[in-house]
Amino acid sequence: MGDRARVRAVPASARGDGCDRGSAARRARPGDRADLGGEQSAALLAELRRALLGRFGTSDEQRLDMSLRRARLVVPVRFHVVHSGSRGRVPASVVRRQVSTLNAAYGGRRGGADTGVRFRLASADWTNASDWFNDPQEYEGAMKKRLRRGGRGTLNVFTAAVGTDVLGFSTFPQWYRKHPRLDGVVIDYRALPKNADGPFDRGYTAVHEIGHWLGLLHTFQGGCVPPGDGVADTPYEAEPAEGCPTYRDTCAQRGRDPVHNFMDYGHDTCMREFTAGQGRRIRAAWAAYRSGRRGHRHADPAARRADRGVDLGTRAPGEVRSVGGSR
Ligand SMILES: [Zn+2]
Repeated sequence: MGDRARVRAVPASARGDGCDRGSAARRARPGDRADLGGEQSAALLAELRRALLGRFGTSDEQRLDMSLRRARLVVPVRFHVVHSGSRGRVPASVVRRQVSTLNAAYGGRRGGADTGVRFRLASADWTNASDWFNDPQEYEGAMKKRLRRGGRGTLNVFTAAVGTDVLGFSTFPQWYRKHPRLDGVVIDYRALPKNADGPFDRGYTAVHEIGHWLGLLHTFQGGCVPPGDGVADTPYEAEPAEGCPTYRDTCAQRGRDPVHNFMDYGHDTCMREFTAGQGRRIRAAWAAYRSGRRGHRHADPAARRADRGVDLGTRAPGEVRSVGGSR
């Protein structure tokens, strides 16, 4: 590993904003622990059950899947590149490659299950703002207030210099009702596919963070203690994977540690799969929190229009948009 691992980002917990958004951060540093406490993860799972029961009369995700008979779920993506001059100003080709990577991963084309989720790039914009770029955790509110678009069914992805320890952070769908303006995913620009050298260069940081945005917990959530991540077909594991410990088995329950799962902390070269149960969880969480009133379409008319075509070409990466107040 290069020197990426030696630089520390400001830990989310130091922000003191009383909100646990940093809890979904993907950390690159070996030995880091799951950020969500047992009570927090239990609360998220209980909240999802309540929402499903209230809306559909059942929280059985298998039954729900059958009754919804969902066609493929297509998520419009609003991609926001925040940069500082030439630093972090990733080209449109990399943005497109990231979206392709999402589709491959969520479609089961890297291994594992097809979650039924696909992504369509609705727009991309470039913003020259060094403050935001250099400390997206500190400026998260301002950055998202200015840039994010769409409603609960629109995925807003921001890239900036998140750090080389924490590679990204995300919100959970359960948080949307209270914090709609903070909804979205922020990832380090060096974790975009083929945008840097090192163990996190395949674009799976975005896959992982978007997993949280879609409602998934870490596979190591809760360690060996039930309910873990609350998904039946991801074996328990005591701690996050570091690198790629292929044959590791840290819990007494059945199954080796799911170190190849996108919701673990392994290197990108190690990650390759979601499980069928995670796919069901995603679809259930979508139905509960991100779909329109009557079904599975997103609630954002602008994004729906944008679904038909990508307005990526209207602003080239070179034409940077400056933001007042930032240098
Ligand atoms: Zn995570």
